[in-house]
Amino acid sequence: MTDLVVVGAGPFGLTVARVMAEQGRRVALVERRAHVGGNAFSEPDETTGIEVHRYGAHIFHTSNQRVWGFLGRFTGWTPYLHRVFTVHSGEVFPLPVNLGTINQFFRTALSPDEARALIRSQASSPAPDAVPLSPSPAADAVPPGPGPASDVVPPDPGPASDVVSPGPGPASDVVPPGPSPASPANSGQESLSPSSSAPATPASPGPAPPSSAGAASDSSPAAALADGGESLDVKAVGMIGRPLYEAFIREYTAKQWQVAPELLPGAVISRLPVRYNYDARYFSDPYQGLPVDGYAALWEKLADHPQIEVRLGEDFLADTPDGGLYTKANCVGQVPVVFTGPIDRYFDYVCGELGWRTLDFVWDHPATGDFQGCPVMNYADLAQPWTRIIEFKHFHPERDYPADRTVIAREFSRLAAMGDEPYYPVATPQDRARLERYREAAKAEPNVVFGGRLGRYQYLDMDMAIAAGLTTAAGL
Ligand code: FAD
Ligand code: UDP
Repeated sequence: MTDLVVVGAGPFGLTVARVMAEQGRRVALVERRAHVGGNAFSEPDETTGIEVHRYGAHIFHTSNQRVWGFLGRFTGWTPYLHRVFTVHSGEVFPLPVNLGTINQFFRTALSPDEARALIRSQASSPAPDAVPLSPSPAADAVPPGPGPASDVVPPDPGPASDVVSPGPGPASDVVPPGPSPASPANSGQESLSPSSSAPATPASPGPAPPSSAGAASDSSPAAALADGGESLDVKAVGMIGRPLYEAFIREYTAKQWQVAPELLPGAVISRLPVRYNYDARYFSDPYQGLPVDGYAALWEKLADHPQIEVRLGEDFLADTPDGGLYTKANCVGQVPVVFTGPIDRYFDYVCGELGWRTLDFVWDHPATGDFQGCPVMNYADLAQPWTRIIEFKHFHPERDYPADRTVIAREFSRLAAMGDEPYYPVATPQDRARLERYREAAKAEPNVVFGGRLGRYQYLDMDMAIAAGLTTAAGL
């Protein structure tokens, strides 16, 4: 038959397959989509030829030299450094919060020390009287008026504070097997608390107002923050002070998670650095870039090995007799399997479904050569129901793209229903209890390893998925 079946040709499965193939093992790589690369796949937009990331914008960044070296065998990298802007009250600011953001927002020219002192003085300001997180009635009319100069608090002459978040630490080689998805390794997406409101959809006039009332039975703040520590709002105000939190974080976070920031763990926000200089890079990692020839070419090179048989369009969990040569029924117990699909689906949802947040991308070809002048523009206010707009041509300024055309995707976030693409694990306490039961069941599966973001129900950046793939392969 084969020496190993790898289910799922995302970054994790590809890494395992490649390493095992290079050790002389015959690998069947089974992928139910029509392409390899998993969610990190890209392809040319059919109207413009511009490379688009089909499942959301992917920027490679890592502190892990081993991962960087491994991928470097299959691609060169462009010098792209990710920079993000955000629209608030009709004005564009650089993000993450840096000295440029602070000085623009407060209409000042503070030095690093003065800015630290200002933010420190604002880090303890009390919450304003409860302002409901509901869509603004003036949804489309955002006045370009002056910034909130009235919020300015004079710099505190006291000692400079050390509230700078260190940003994501060096990526670990190993995705720890034990911890719940509420506490992924450093640069990973944090788990979120239960979502309580109806999802926003692109068709709706605005996002569902996040609410702490009417939450599902297990969505109390105590449950959401069961791991201890601060809530997102407390953490964020401590990092950047209340005015900046109210402007850039509060409503964006509500759109992104459809739950009030008070119910989210502070770790969600810790991944955003705060810098008291004009360094506006989104990521702090020493290795960053985009594959010179695109993601699809990179992933295809990983799969291209005489010992790897790539089987596209085949679902390992198909339950029809003709589902494919490599199905669960045919393989488990017969040959070692690395399964990177959803763990709950593997077990036919016997312990219930695990919750995911999904994204809707609304694609458009505005009649211009440059829609927004940068790759990613966030929308901080509830007035716009999308969280961000991606304009893909800006990821590759070195390419000869058409000067008169462009392609954009507006991104909307909502809870996933059955059949939706799973993107971010929700990880309510109920999800985590279910996950523990699935992990128990997984131990009894003969010679099956569950890995990757779906197999472990854990958000992983690409470098973490690859690092975990290298580690998994070493243990096979
Ligand atoms: P996946 O990429 O999901 O691959 C799993 C594969 O398994 C899929 O191709 C799926 O079709 C296949 N599969 C599932 N079930 C079956 C089955 N039964 N039979 C056969 N095949 C099956 N990371 C970064 O480093 N930088 C970024 O900028 C970044 N941006 C992101 C933006 C968004 C919106 C999201 C959601 C994620 C982002 N990520 C980013 C994370 C990145 O997508 C993941 O690290 C990566 O996809 C993980 O790889 P994986 O192999 O574990 O899973
Ligand atoms: N965030 C925000 N405003 C922004 C960007 C991010 O409030 O403009 C918050 C939000 O809660 C988000 C978190 O910071 O979930 C982490 O940001 P990141 O860009 O890492 O999130 P992602 O887009 O990967 O979900």
